[in-house]
Amino acid sequence: MNPSLIDHLRDIVGPEGVIVHSTALSVYECDGYTLEKAIPEVVLLPHSTEEVIAVVKLLHKEKIAFVPRGAGTGLSGGCLPVEAPVMIGTSRLNRIVHIDVLNRYVVAQAGVVNLWVSNAVKSQGLQYAPDPSSQQACTIGGNVAENSGGPHTLKYGVTTNHVLGLEVVLPDGEIVALGGAVEDVPGYDLRGITIGAEGTFGLVTQATLRLTRQPQAYRTFLAVFASVHGATQTVSDIIAAGIVPAALEMMDHLIIQAVEAAFHFGFPTDAGAVLIIELDGLAAGLDPQTTRIMEVCRQNHAREVRVARDDAERLALWKSRKRAFGAVGRLAPNYCTQDGVVPRTKVPEILRVISAVSEKYQLRIANVFHAGDGNIHPILLYDERNADETERVIKAGQEILKACVDLGGSLTGEHGIGIEKMGQMPLIFSPEDLLVMSQIRSVFNPDNLCNPNKIIPTPHGCIDVRMPRRQAPL
Ligand SMILES: Cc1cc2nc3c(=O)[nH]c(=O)nc-3n(C[C@H](O)[C@H](O)[C@H](O)COP(=O)(O)OP(=O)(O)OC[C@H]3O[C@@H](n4cnc5c(N)ncnc54)[C@H](O)[C@@H]3O)c2cc1C
Repeated sequence: MNPSLIDHLRDIVGPEGVIVHSTALSVYECDGYTLEKAIPEVVLLPHSTEEVIAVVKLLHKEKIAFVPRGAGTGLSGGCLPVEAPVMIGTSRLNRIVHIDVLNRYVVAQAGVVNLWVSNAVKSQGLQYAPDPSSQQACTIGGNVAENSGGPHTLKYGVTTNHVLGLEVVLPDGEIVALGGAVEDVPGYDLRGITIGAEGTFGLVTQATLRLTRQPQAYRTFLAVFASVHGATQTVSDIIAAGIVPAALEMMDHLIIQAVEAAFHFGFPTDAGAVLIIELDGLAAGLDPQTTRIMEVCRQNHAREVRVARDDAERLALWKSRKRAFGAVGRLAPNYCTQDGVVPRTKVPEILRVISAVSEKYQLRIANVFHAGDGNIHPILLYDERNADETERVIKAGQEILKACVDLGGSLTGEHGIGIEKMGQMPLIFSPEDLLVMSQIRSVFNPDNLCNPNKIIPTPHGCIDVRMPRRQAPL
């Protein structure tokens, strides 16, 4: 990039907000999807919305593409700079701007970490419900871009259900307010369409987030099964019994072993699978549901059903679950997490497919996922130094996602399309659908300057994800 342009950018964000040194830039070469890597030419870390506007206006004038980045915990390569030399990081947009307890909302800048929001309102008996397992690191901007979910999505819904308004800097530097602090804003729901757009409409600088009352009581169970089948059948049977728990999570044998080695919660390492089931709400209503869930678990031959005795035990259980991905490092040097969705009743079937794929491609695959939502997360273990194994991981992942679609599901539950699944978009969308999507994107991002080459495959050049460790842009 032109050095005088870099100087100009430095004038806007300050010297410490411009990263150009190659060693420092390598930190930004990928997100949690490590099969693809691309290093930006410059990373900018603005302090304020005003700085974002000035930077984006300058880039627009020079017709230079950029990619927004939050914490880089994304799992589909969404913040990879592909034909976008500039990365704009939000780590210094990290203020909670306003808390309105009476009207139950928070205004937070895009770089605020998800968990900070609930921590800020805990003493008022409130919480921000979306709780991705990465919530100790991921940002509100990234959550908005991916429409993130989490273990408690089953009862509370995903990010879009908890964002009232957005402030967005469009790719030409214009600032717009979408939605607001009140429930029903007249006109088209531009807030809604921006959530889940994976940063292709503009850079979100702040969001107005709905707060929810903390539940009065919880019942959190650990149900232990000899087989995956018993666990998945229990998931179906609990929902069929008319109970919608707050969370219904499953871990299989391989992941139990890694999590137990890392966190020593007391998971039985010889179990085929465990379920973490959580009920929440008014204390008075929880006992009959607890009894019914115990019955369903036993009918499906649960070896043991343990109820967390107190808050400390409940929190330890969730800590183990939410850090499960972190424990995977004990199993292999690298992993790739898939994010397919199937109708809940098809969970046993997709797990059989995953097991067959594991055998076919001679790969170890661990499973930890939001079973109640039918949102699977097979974790394909590999070593990126082994090119053949890496190739097999890509093929196996694609086969699993195709099976999800064939079973009536979808390519992504919460991690987004990014660059990872662009090539598979035609499995669920016709060329006409994809054209309409690109036309909608053009309304916000006519020159394709903000996060180009994501989500929608282009006829002239879909990203080839079968080129592991591609360093250069398209
Ligand atoms: C261990 C682990 C567990 C996870 N668990 C979950 C889970 O339970 N549920 C879930 O949904 N996801 C989960 N994820 C995925 C990931 O954490 C989420 O997608 C998260 O929302 C990404 O936030 P981020 O700040 O890291 O965004 P990044 O990875 O930095 O970016 C993600 C996308 O958002 C865009 N973006 C970022 N900030 C902005 C902004 N301000 N304006 C516009 N676009 C922006 C980027 O361009 C990119 O396309 C997990 C990831 C890991 C590593």
